[in-house]
Parts: sequence; C-alpha cells; structure tokens
Amino acid sequence: MVGREVDARKRYAKATIVLVITLVFAFAASKLIRSSYEVEPIVKGPSVTRVEKLSRYHSGIIGTPGDTDVYFLDSGKPGGTVLMLGGIHATEVAGMLTSVLFIENAQVNQGRLIIIPHSNNSAFATQPAEDAFVPVFHIETDWGERWFRLGDRLTNPVLQWPDPDAYAHYPSGQILSGSEVRNLNRAFPGRPDGLYTEQVAYAITQLILEEDCDLVIDMHEASAMYPVVNVMVSHSNAMDIAGMAAMTMDFEEGVYIGVEASPEGLRGLTHREIGDHTQAKVILMETANPIMDYVRGKATEELVVTGKDEFLVMAAERGMVTVPYDEKGAPIEERVGRHSSGVQQILSMMSMMYPDSTIQVEGVPKHADLKEHGLGHFLKNPSDFPQEAL
Ligand SMILES: [Zn+2]
Repeated sequence: MVGREVDARKRYAKATIVLVITLVFAFAASKLIRSSYEVEPIVKGPSVTRVEKLSRYHSGIIGTPGDTDVYFLDSGKPGGTVLMLGGIHATEVAGMLTSVLFIENAQVNQGRLIIIPHSNNSAFATQPAEDAFVPVFHIETDWGERWFRLGDRLTNPVLQWPDPDAYAHYPSGQILSGSEVRNLNRAFPGRPDGLYTEQVAYAITQLILEEDCDLVIDMHEASAMYPVVNVMVSHSNAMDIAGMAAMTMDFEEGVYIGVEASPEGLRGLTHREIGDHTQAKVILMETANPIMDYVRGKATEELVVTGKDEFLVMAAERGMVTVPYDEKGAPIEERVGRHSSGVQQILSMMSMMYPDSTIQVEGVPKHADLKEHGLGHFLKNPSDFPQEAL
C-alpha cells in the first residue's frame, strides 16, 4: 500500500515537472511569435508630414499582419511624387534600411516622397524554414544598438496556404512555380478579391494611382552568384532616367551600376506591371546580399550586417560570383550606400529631364558617407524622440 502511494507521488512529481516545462516552452514560443509581429521603431524625420496605413488604399487588408505603414514626406511645394518601396522581399534588408535612412534623415525641399519600408510586412514575421535565419539583427550606432527584423522572401503562410502546384499570374495567366504565389514581386498589379499577396500588391497599385506617383523605385537584394546584381532594372518608360542616373553615379561617385531593360515576358514584377498598369515610371535596384547565396555558411546576424562568408570567398576565387567579392565581404554600408546613391541620382535625373516632376531632397548620406561613417551613425535613437515621433 505504502509502495503504491510512493509510486503515485513520483508519477505526480514527474507529471508536474513535464507540465511546468511545457508551460515554460509554450510561454517562450508565444513570446517569440508575438515579438516577430512587433514592428521595429522608426523615427519620423524632419520632412515626415503624416503616416498612413496601406489598407487606406484597399480595405481588404485592414487589421492583418500584412497591413503596413506608409510615410509621407511632403515639402508642400509643387513638384514630383516618388514612391520608394523597401521590403517587398523581407530577406533583402538593404531596401528596408535605405527606406528607414530616408524617413529619418531626408529634408524634402520640393515635391513629395512616399516611403513604405515593409512593403510585404507579413513576410517580416516569418523566416524560410530551411535556412535557420535569425529573426532579428542589430546595427551598432553612436549611442547603442537598433534592432530590425530579418524576414522571408515570401508572404507568411499563416495568411495564405497551401501553395498550389502551379501559380497562374493575374491578369496575364502566365504560369509560375507554386511557391511564387506568395511572392509579392510576382503578384503585381494585384486584384482586390484575389489571394492575400495579390491584395497587398493591389493596395500598392491603388496607392500609386490615387497619389498620382510619377516614379516608383523598388529596392531589392540578390545573391552574389546571381547574374542580375548591382544593377538597375528599368521599365521602358524610365530607361532614360535609369541610364543617366547610372552613368552619373559611376562618373561622380565611382560606384558602378549596370542598367537592364525589364523583360516583357516576365510577369508580376514591379518593374513590369507598375509601368504597364499605372501612370508611374518604375525602376528596380539590386545589391548583393550573401545571406541569399546557397554556398554560404551559417545565417548569422554578422553575415546579415558584414556580408562576410568564407565559402563565398572560395566561390569568388573560382569565378562563380558575379560581383567583386573577397574577404572584406559585402557590408551593409556598401549595400545601403548603393541604394541611397542610386535613389538620389534617379531623383536628380528625373528633376532635370522632367522639370514638372522636380523633387529636391537633401540630408541623406550617399555611398561614400556611409562607407566613411557607417550606417549606424545616421540612425536616430528612438528613445530621444517622444512616442508620437515614432
Ligand atoms: Zn527581391
């Protein structure tokens, strides 16, 4: 009898331990899931006049994790309107960080900038399952650290699942592989009653139409082994601006960037569909991000920020990398610097070639400034600003 009581007590003790461990894990997991939906603080810089939700342009995404902030930097002086898109692919963090750099530093003296740092916001709350990514990374600044999310290339499957075997792009009907159905850069121009990713694309297209944007600049990154890197891909409606901007960037800043025409047969991409379906000119830019290369080692925070990877160096020595790459890596200053200079050259050229669409921006560091001082030097300390400035 006594022996049975001891056994029962042991079983209770074991069950209690298992229960406590389960609760601790459940709590930690729920905290992690909740924190991945938390958006990193962004300080409203000197020219930010208002912040809207993307769902203002399409109510179908109201209250979902894909709804996202749209920053307006309006000089109040007539001129051009330019939309900057960061984070269409949430792995390609240089585009998101360049958006933050502009929001926090740009002084817009003529015309209007509209900036979406997290264009596919739900993708920032997930990571590709096979890649063991870190969910956040940090940038050292003069006053401490800023944190940012590292996400997936595709929309969070919680919002759109399962993927079909094949994806038929709307409205072209072009057939793409099944997982591309969650790729925002294969979903343009989108449709209001479509799948979740198509609805996010539709909201952005509606914004471009309603705000009468003259130009859209879409900032991406690609693997260093991919042939389309360090390049502007332009719709035919913006080739004149892209060509002049690239030449001037090389001539004035010593930063080479190629220019390619958007292929007419490749559907769903910003540089194709926004140009075909709206009044806006459109240019996409790519930098090299080694975390996207298949040969790389561990996907650490350090790799996100420094772009240093020993296996990619070995690939480069064998001529398999399409951009200049060595043990110095592809630091975030280089990548954000390319985007920042590229955007500023494009704005200058558009203003020169289309005076009615003039947009005059100053105060944003270019490639050489970022290489000299580091990205963190230009990021604000959110705790120095009152809550309403975030
Ligand atoms: Zn991309």
